[in-house]
Amino acid sequence: MESTRRRTQPSSNGKTSEHMEQPAQWGRAWEVDWFSLIGVISLLCFAPFIVFYFVMACDQYQCSISQPLFELYSGETTLLSIWARSPSFTWSAAKIYAIWVGFQVFLYMCIPDVTNKFIPGYVGGVQDGAQTPAGLINKYEINGLQCWLITHALWFANAHYFHWFSPTIIFDNWIPLMWCTNILGYAVSTFAFIKAYFFPTNSEDCKFTGNIFYNYMMGIEFNPRIGKWFDFKLFFNGRPGIVAWTLINLSYMAKQQELYGHITNSMILVNVLQAIYVLDFFWNEAWYLKTIDICHDHFGWYLGWGDCVWLPYLYTLQGLYLVYHPVQLSDAHALAVLLLGLVGYYIFRSTNHQKDLFRRTEGSCSIWGHKPTYIECSYQSADGGIHHSKLLTSGFWGVARHFNYTGDLMGSLAYCAACGFGHILPYFYIVYMTILLVHRCVRDEHRCSSKYGKDWKRYTDAVPYRLIPGMF
Ligand code: NDP
Repeated sequence: MESTRRRTQPSSNGKTSEHMEQPAQWGRAWEVDWFSLIGVISLLCFAPFIVFYFVMACDQYQCSISQPLFELYSGETTLLSIWARSPSFTWSAAKIYAIWVGFQVFLYMCIPDVTNKFIPGYVGGVQDGAQTPAGLINKYEINGLQCWLITHALWFANAHYFHWFSPTIIFDNWIPLMWCTNILGYAVSTFAFIKAYFFPTNSEDCKFTGNIFYNYMMGIEFNPRIGKWFDFKLFFNGRPGIVAWTLINLSYMAKQQELYGHITNSMILVNVLQAIYVLDFFWNEAWYLKTIDICHDHFGWYLGWGDCVWLPYLYTLQGLYLVYHPVQLSDAHALAVLLLGLVGYYIFRSTNHQKDLFRRTEGSCSIWGHKPTYIECSYQSADGGIHHSKLLTSGFWGVARHFNYTGDLMGSLAYCAACGFGHILPYFYIVYMTILLVHRCVRDEHRCSSKYGKDWKRYTDAVPYRLIPGMF
């Protein structure tokens, strides 16, 4: 275990300084308990089947997730017959996917960002990431917004002018494409695993636990790269995953139009609310460099396979459901969903913005019209350097310790509620996001507590709730 020396500094609120020794933890664990190991092995075994089950339920059972289970239980069907009815791998899907990923690699690597030169307020181009445990600061080429704009401009140009392919192409190849995404997801995770042993980008930032399953899933290398600029984390999370999200939704919308001759208000709501979330991600891609994914998670199957398969298939279940069930919402229902989505987004964005502004200006800013209050902390990195940091205790960060997650969950609930109440399949997303963000919150707080020690305790005393004031 990493041993660090740390000391606290006098805070702006005039609290006293103290000196102490205490272990700090960055990123994922060094040691694996049995509980984590069982969780890891279960996820490795079952996550691909969960994805298959949901997509198959829509394809064969009109999005009912209980019907296949009932039929299996009563003997009306068998696992083999479900498998036999499922579309298999096709070379045309492989060609589509290879062109798609190749095109995203090309945009990511070969077209430096120019949008930051003419879009006011947008931060793109070469940006610094956060300091790694070994004390490194990586540089990133931030061009995600540009890639998203070019990709979508081409999509619309094709749909309305060139007609190279049908806008329903993604829906029409959805299951064959799933096999291709799995091939890439497993290939990239396995490559990252082997690379960490034989040619790591920065060996000082690698973490080995001695448990092969845990290493494979949670990753060994912190910031694996090929060459100077191809960063695995930034590319795989943003490009084949999040750029695809809005295209997949557009393909579902086109399919609804093709099948029923009209587009429902629920489909428009899902497309608009999720597009806001995706555009927000790319607008703030430089900020993403400071999130847990980049600052603390190592790159393994969790990120590699998750970005290639889990994200595009399960984050888009609402649109898929609406192709099979074209729900037309009442005006009141649609308005309630829109409000929930927008308020959730506002909380999510403002909370993240407050922390970013506060950290960037080192506290010399205004939050809700006042000078921010904070707790000052210090910690030591693996290279022995002493660093200082501040934990904000005003604005949304004074309401709860992860109010950004609360806003995110409100937005997620809005996507699900847009699908009406006919089936539970579209509600998978809110259940999953709640588990993901509560787990992430606990994981992050455990790490912060190790990193900041008594200062973290002072912070949790000042802001006692995690997500919902008065409840949790
Ligand atoms: P945060 O942006 O909340 O970052 C947590 C880190 O911020 C902590 O590790 C700590 O880092 C620092 N911090 C904690 N408290 C404070 C404070 N009071 N003042 C200043 N800094 C503080 O978490 P994430 O990176 O997980 O999430 C970013 C956003 O991404 C969230 O809005 C989340 O909802 C969203 N998200 C969405 C996902 C999706 O799949 N849709 C998945 C994951 C996240 P330090 O060590 O620097 O002090």
